[in-house]
Amino acid sequence: MEVHLLPVLKDNYIFLLHNPETHTAIVVDPAIAAPVITKITELGATLIAILNTHHHSDHIGGNTELLNVFPDLKIYGGKLDRGRIPHQQVFLKDGDRLDFDGQFGHNSAQVLFIPGHTHAHIAYYFAESNNLFCGDTLFGCGCGRLFEGTPAQMLSSLQKLAHLPDQTLVWCAHEYTIDNLKFALTIDIENLALQARMRSATQTRANHQPTIPTNIGLEKQTNPFLRCDRPEIQTKIGFTEPVRVFTKLRGMKDLYRA
Ligand code: ZN
Ligand code: FE
Repeated sequence: MEVHLLPVLKDNYIFLLHNPETHTAIVVDPAIAAPVITKITELGATLIAILNTHHHSDHIGGNTELLNVFPDLKIYGGKLDRGRIPHQQVFLKDGDRLDFDGQFGHNSAQVLFIPGHTHAHIAYYFAESNNLFCGDTLFGCGCGRLFEGTPAQMLSSLQKLAHLPDQTLVWCAHEYTIDNLKFALTIDIENLALQARMRSATQTRANHQPTIPTNIGLEKQTNPFLRCDRPEIQTKIGFTEPVRVFTKLRGMKDLYRA
């Protein structure tokens, strides 16, 4: 399967998954419909599914229009999002497997329940191709704000993602990497991998390229929210218990202006 990244709105990414053999496509978090329709037309594919990670408008805004254009598609979301995702037909829980009725070749996705940003948030993990679509939970060198969940929930959701293989490609729904790196460098000052990442991300953005996808290995080396068990972070924050470290770190990030 191919992943096409569509930059939309201020800093959102929509992901269009395309199987050239079956001429079918799946879209993750369509904030808006128009660029998705354009890309699908260009690919000569049929849209068979919308995968929503959570109910926020910048992730579901294109649902209705896409369903009008492709009336046979199925709309997937977390079961706790019932009533909040327009036209949701499939209500998913942790561990569910999606095979798209064979319409997307041999690709299948596994559902990971990762509450924190919202209490219903889920991710879609395509193990065969090493792709993770995690919405607003894990970002490049950062994590989502806590709108509905607790710090303990978010930390355990992030830890769940951190247990995926290092080479897993992480497709985050926003381009927040540079601001996140600036904040991370105020905390994890001596981290050479983090410093190197800032240099390469700066270059990437100067070339108007996305910093997404990132990968789990890089996040574990550089993302402070995945490093709450590290002595150097704990010393800087003044706590040792990971949930307390995470809570303080998230609070500091909420107040941080790059
Ligand atoms: Zn959101
Ligand atoms: Fe968002």
